[in-house]
Amino acid sequence: MKIIDAHNHPDWHGHNLERFIANMDQYGISKTWLFSWECERNEYSEGTETVIPAPVLGSMTGPIPFTRCLSYVERNPERFILGYAPDARDPQASRKLKAAHDIYGAKCCGEVKCRVMYDNPDCLRLFRTAGDLGMPVTLHFDYDFQPTLNHPRTEWWGGTIDTLENVLKACPDTTFLGHAPGFWVHISDDDIWKTARYPKPGTPVVREGRIPKLLRKYPNLYCDISAGSGNLALSRDPEYAVEFLTEFQDRICYARDYFDNVHQTFLNSLNLPQEILQKIYAGNAEKLVH
Ligand SMILES: [Zn+2]
Repeated sequence: MKIIDAHNHPDWHGHNLERFIANMDQYGISKTWLFSWECERNEYSEGTETVIPAPVLGSMTGPIPFTRCLSYVERNPERFILGYAPDARDPQASRKLKAAHDIYGAKCCGEVKCRVMYDNPDCLRLFRTAGDLGMPVTLHFDYDFQPTLNHPRTEWWGGTIDTLENVLKACPDTTFLGHAPGFWVHISDDDIWKTARYPKPGTPVVREGRIPKLLRKYPNLYCDISAGSGNLALSRDPEYAVEFLTEFQDRICYARDYFDNVHQTFLNSLNLPQEILQKIYAGNAEKLVH
């Protein structure tokens, strides 16, 4: 079966190009969408310094510079799809995105991860430009929580699930992929998002969360199942996962944001029809980027 990883990063978690390709080969992944990450220096997640290229490179553009994505694609164009997302607050962001598309052949706009409500005018201008260029936009969401003595720092990204709905409504000609804890917690209609980034494994889904409702209402929303958040949202309730993946089989993309194989292990355990698996593993990603 053809497999595309629709979310990963260059030089991430100790992987150089050779180790990255070896890891893709190990898990049967033929292509990976490679994303940059631009945000302010003081916004970097705690501990991120050890898993991103920026500190070594002295990058001024964010934790994962576009130039690293470009380096991988130029050295191995067969295996990587070029992604780029400028810091969405930059008034020049649209022009930067167009330059990355026109000059370097960037095909997707990811990962958008900055400490701003994504429905503000600068963000919407960037997202509309991405739509005009045929580039799907991958959005990272995380909720803010009150800091505690043990965890004095707090971080949030993108806004709320209502912010996402505003974005979907404001940019009907742009395709968005929802990603990260603040998105996936809404697979379920419960209040976990008010107190925790992740549900406890095995917490059943309370039907109908905001995600299925938004998917039915907005044809421009897709789901990126990468990382612990995507895996946990599905694996917390495998029975519901089958219903969800079946109903939205045309809108879910396999993705990792890391180098493990938990998503394949889980997807393959569900006994889904091959036709559905093929769409999730590669068909939907190919529909968005070709
Ligand atoms: Zn992310």
